[in-house]
Amino acid sequence: MAKKEKSASELLKEQLFYERKNALCDIKAAEVKKINSYAEGYKNFLNTAKTEREAVNYAVKYAEENDFRAFEYGKKYSAGDKIYFNNRGKAIYLAVIGSENIENGINIAAAHIDSPRIDLKQCPVYEEGGMAFFKTHYYGGIKKYQWVTLPLALHGTVVLKDGKKIDICVGEKADDPVFCITDLLPHLAADQYAKTLGKAITGEGLNVLIGSTPFEGEKGKDSIKLNVLSILNKTYGIIEEDFISAELTLVPAEKARDLGFDRSMICGYGHDDRVCAYPILTAAVEAGKKTPKNTLVTILADKEETGSNGNTGMHSEAFDNMLIELCTNMGANYRKAVSNSRCLSADVNACFDPNYAEVYESKNSAFINCGVCVTKFTGSRGKSSTNDASAEYMAEIRSIFDNAGVTWQTGELGKVDQGGGGTVALIIAEKNIETVDVGVAVLSMHAPYEIISKADLYSAYKAFTAFFAR
Ligand code: MN
Ligand code: MN
Repeated sequence: MAKKEKSASELLKEQLFYERKNALCDIKAAEVKKINSYAEGYKNFLNTAKTEREAVNYAVKYAEENDFRAFEYGKKYSAGDKIYFNNRGKAIYLAVIGSENIENGINIAAAHIDSPRIDLKQCPVYEEGGMAFFKTHYYGGIKKYQWVTLPLALHGTVVLKDGKKIDICVGEKADDPVFCITDLLPHLAADQYAKTLGKAITGEGLNVLIGSTPFEGEKGKDSIKLNVLSILNKTYGIIEEDFISAELTLVPAEKARDLGFDRSMICGYGHDDRVCAYPILTAAVEAGKKTPKNTLVTILADKEETGSNGNTGMHSEAFDNMLIELCTNMGANYRKAVSNSRCLSADVNACFDPNYAEVYESKNSAFINCGVCVTKFTGSRGKSSTNDASAEYMAEIRSIFDNAGVTWQTGELGKVDQGGGGTVALIIAEKNIETVDVGVAVLSMHAPYEIISKADLYSAYKAFTAFFAR
């Protein structure tokens, strides 16, 4: 049967109007297969790397398996060399030296590998009401009420006075115990119900239940605390004072799972920003399998969720120092290299949620399955505290993505004056590098279990691959 002829105005609309494409409409079976197989690798990454230290360990192993070598000061690198700079085990930068002069610019992609969570305080263990608890201090922007009555796993590192490091991970194996923050039963919650959502659970109320058995033969005060410390001492050789030099954190114990009858989405902890970290890491390693034209650099940063400060956050000079060292040893001008560089700041954006439609402006929001989201600016109010990518750079990114057949969309973080947020984009842009935010849209961002679409994840991988090939 002959197709109905399109009217002149329909054709003109097709030519003139901008419309988001849904990656899953008219998709080929082969593409679905690629999307699903990529998602399996990503779920494994989510389950293996719940903290920044674990993400760096994953990246180092993966990079070394693909012939990347640890960065050496003073060494002259040349085209085809593949290196990684491990910044204190909490941030990592990978580089593949291109065939062109590095002064022509570097293709940089930057994501972060820290996620909101519940950190232990330095004197965490106490006993009350016949139970032992950890005192905690939350990390990043959490809605505290979401973190109670969840199975939590303990991850982290204790460093003894002699420098010996002890890694701890409890709650991930099927037969491991887990930990939990209690909540009030509804029967007695009359006063709690009267509080606002933000105040119903307090920061000092996020105490984690860790034991209830007294030490054998002990009845007195702190017998349960003694028993917990005795178990920790037997298992890890640590004493209470060792918590002072520890970074221990509680994260959701559940594994990443497919979501939906159609399995089109993934529910898991830490999509922000592993859903960008994994695509830039895998795209960089793939790109490094043959010498790229331009040098490419991948940044997996720490401390984004607390403002990117400290020596492992994006404000640290560690990154600049690595680039200066690279350029200097190659006889290149660092300032020229940087000024000619381009960056995709790879971080998540808010996915339009019809259950909370009032906080979005639907013409400029990111929608699920519509591909990786290019965000010209973040910040809040009158574009305060943001890198606002240039029209020139936006045009270049449109061209790169369209030429590579990437499904992508544009998006804004909520409607004007609703709130806002930031990424590492402005920190990188301040180095005199063209920068724009590109990342995956997330539902329930910063919740213990966030949601993303597999098609969007894969479109991010395709986008970063295309960018590294420019
Ligand atoms: Mn983020
Ligand atoms: Mn975040």
